[in-house]
Amino acid sequence: MKRIVLLRLGHRPERDKRITTHVGLTARLLGAEGMLLASNDPGIVKSLDGVVERWGGNFYVKNDVNFKQEIRKWKEEGGKVCHLSMYGVNLPDVTAELKQCEKLMLVVGAEKVPPEIYQLADWNVAVGSQPHSEVTALALTLDRIAEEDPLEKEFSDAELTIIPMECGKKVIEKVRD
Ligand code: SAM
Repeated sequence: MKRIVLLRLGHRPERDKRITTHVGLTARLLGAEGMLLASNDPGIVKSLDGVVERWGGNFYVKNDVNFKQEIRKWKEEGGKVCHLSMYGVNLPDVTAELKQCEKLMLVVGAEKVPPEIYQLADWNVAVGSQPHSEVTALALTLDRIAEEDPLEKEFSDAELTIIPMECGKKVIEKVRD
């Protein structure tokens, strides 16, 4: 089974809380096992842990990581690193290669990424060579490299499960012992 982890760079607690939370939610939805946050913001961990508690799965957040150490460790364990940047090679040109990778770290930035990330990465990949957002870049990449449709995935041990319907809202709540 493919392992995918997300490395979030450049998060500024005073202004990026919402988008970093959305980056984490997107990663969880679309098949990443966890998010490594290269900044100190325990609030992000709390908020995503709360989602996992209620909505299931095993997604984790590691707060305040040293990004160079995490990349080094990942590579020593045979992992590859794909940095998402509008300056990279276009995603359709490397999708097949990325799909073959069994252990992949995806890296997204916020305002500006440390320049050495371009050298540390095995791929610098553009999701179209136009500016947009880390949420869009991550979502499109995860969807395109998925082995199975990530929207069909079920999350284990959920307290809350939505029953999809054409109109209205139905949520099943499992009462914990
Ligand atoms: N001016 C910033 C820079 O040059 O790094 C733009 C940062 S953008 C708001 C935040 C993040 O979104 C980037 O670090 C990158 O990971 C992702 N991103 C934005 N547009 C992208 C694109 N076209 N392809 C891939 N990633 C993109």
